[in-house]
Amino acid sequence: MYETPTLYIDGEFLSGEGRKTQDIVNPATHEVLGQLPHASRADLDRALSAAARAFETWRDSSPLQRSEILRRVAQLSRERAREIGRNVTLDQGKPLAESVAEITTCADHADWHAEECRRIYGRVIAGRRPEVHQYVVREPVGVCAAFTPWNFPFNQAIRKVCAAIGAGCTIILKGPEDSPSAVIAIARMFHDAGLPPGVLNIVWGVPAEVSDYLIRSPIVRKVSFTGSVPVGKQLAALAGAHMKRITMELGGHSPVIVFDDANVEKAATQLARFKVRNAGQVCISPTRFYVQDKVYASFLETFVQTLRDIKVGDGLETDTDMGPLAHERRVPTMSRFVEDSLARGGKLLLGGEPLDRKGNFFPPTVITEIPEDSMVMTEEPFGPLAPVVPFSDPEQAIRQANSLPYGLASYVFTSSLQTANRVARALEAGQVNINHFGSALPETPFGGVKDSGIGSEGGSETFDGYLVTKFVTAI
Ligand code: NAD
Repeated sequence: MYETPTLYIDGEFLSGEGRKTQDIVNPATHEVLGQLPHASRADLDRALSAAARAFETWRDSSPLQRSEILRRVAQLSRERAREIGRNVTLDQGKPLAESVAEITTCADHADWHAEECRRIYGRVIAGRRPEVHQYVVREPVGVCAAFTPWNFPFNQAIRKVCAAIGAGCTIILKGPEDSPSAVIAIARMFHDAGLPPGVLNIVWGVPAEVSDYLIRSPIVRKVSFTGSVPVGKQLAALAGAHMKRITMELGGHSPVIVFDDANVEKAATQLARFKVRNAGQVCISPTRFYVQDKVYASFLETFVQTLRDIKVGDGLETDTDMGPLAHERRVPTMSRFVEDSLARGGKLLLGGEPLDRKGNFFPPTVITEIPEDSMVMTEEPFGPLAPVVPFSDPEQAIRQANSLPYGLASYVFTSSLQTANRVARALEAGQVNINHFGSALPETPFGGVKDSGIGSEGGSETFDGYLVTKFVTAI
């Protein structure tokens, strides 16, 4: 049964009684699953003062204590993965196997932060005179406000929570109202793992109102957001006006470059399967396919055939490869991308129209012969759309790949080490995947350049955004 999420403030789970609520809707069936309570102003103030009060002691907690709690959370994630995953499929739509995998891989994120938080070091700098002592310490920044999206509702939230808590900060998190179950499951795990009240607080509401209130509050010292570029820019501007540190994990429009010396069949098959993961609603999803002309036809044949075989359906059905889009509003958006492509002379090789059934279903769609300035080649589709275009000159493909303001992920397929190295250097992106899909592991940094964001999550960089540097000199 779907358990209706609550608020979590100062160690208490608070229901919707007496509060404004909103429907939580299953994207595969449009069934209303429950009512989500919105935080009132008084709730937000309570979360702020709880986080401020808890910071006074949590900042001085031993890294061993933090590590132990994070380890317990990792263990609980593994134990509860199936139950949490089922709820994610119900309120987000992705196939059950993908939901469960999201939870279990996040157990590794919690373990990674448990290990790394014991290694937050300072340094000693030799003085210019023997009696001068100089050292540098890294201290938790303070109360953090975080805003996470619905596409990987568990992953996006737990990474921010683990980084903040592991660094010794306290955090108020506003999760995605449309897919809320994962975030409250995280709160339950930390609660059960013995996290002191006020260190983690979960609120819901009208996103712009909650973020505006929290970011303006003098209690909040750091803002972390994952979501779209336009919203990220708004929040970064507000945080800048109040001189708050930021981590921004924003959208992308990830280019794929397939060279004619690549293992084309393997590349086409793997790219097709990767493309439909989470129905394409992934910030690092491959979204612009540049294929060298000698292998263009064979790439398309395998790519289209693999996508044709994808079974689209309710994520709870065991044979489903791709679920619905998370939001009804995104279905007409997909159609607009297709209409724009066709109006500009594009050719539709697969899909292109919403499925004629209840739920937000849009099939895998392949479009070719589209100009570079078409909507699908310039705006992040965030859905199962794949525009594929040929190229002859590698330099031209690199120029096209770098031509947008985004710079998140990129993909290169080639059997030449020289080409791989040259292109990896030339691509303006936070990550370059060569001949496989290897990013977003706990031990590797994840983040974008250009409009795709500021800062990294994961890797040994994971605490950087949650720490401030203090220099101490004594005589
Ligand atoms: P959106 O920009 O309206 O919302 C994206 C997320 O940000 C949602 O979770 C939303 O609740 C939150 N949000 C929106 N306005 C906010 C505000 N003022 N303050 C705080 N949070 C706010 O977009 P959408 O229609 O929900 O999703 C589609 C777009 O979102 C895509 O084009 C994609 O670029 C982006 N997106 C990116 C990621 C990512 O991982 N980088 C994840 C989800 C969505």
